[in-house]
Amino acid sequence: MNDCIFCKIINREIPSKSVYENDKVYAFYDINPEAPVHVLIVPKQHIASHNELTTKNVDIMKDIHLAVNEIAKQLGIADSGYRIINNCGADAGQTVFHMHYHLVGGTSMGTKIL
Ligand code: AMP
Ligand code: ZN
Repeated sequence: MNDCIFCKIINREIPSKSVYENDKVYAFYDINPEAPVHVLIVPKQHIASHNELTTKNVDIMKDIHLAVNEIAKQLGIADSGYRIINNCGADAGQTVFHMHYHLVGGTSMGTKIL
């Protein structure tokens, strides 16, 4: 997608602060962090939202979740804990339509989801 901001970040057309990368996944710091650790994990393949996952592309979820574990260890929050958040669509407040997972941690977030 030519006009997709996260595709441009993946292609280094827009700068980002890299945290982790492999052949399938890229992770970078959120520009507007909402926690001491706030990283976005994106598939290199353009998938607009969680709704667009299919039997053909869902294998990427394995790579995303393994990347989460690597990054959590790398950033020292694996043991203290973290949340992985995917916003899908308008009611969830999705603003960038290239599927991404927020990895947030580094502080106690309590027991409520919202
Ligand atoms: P969402 O509301 O789930 O679509 O989240 C989009 C996230 O992307 C927000 O937390 C933004 O702060 C973040 N974001 C938008 N543009 C950039 C950028 N250029 N670099 C890093 N993070 C970004
Ligand atoms: Zn994209």
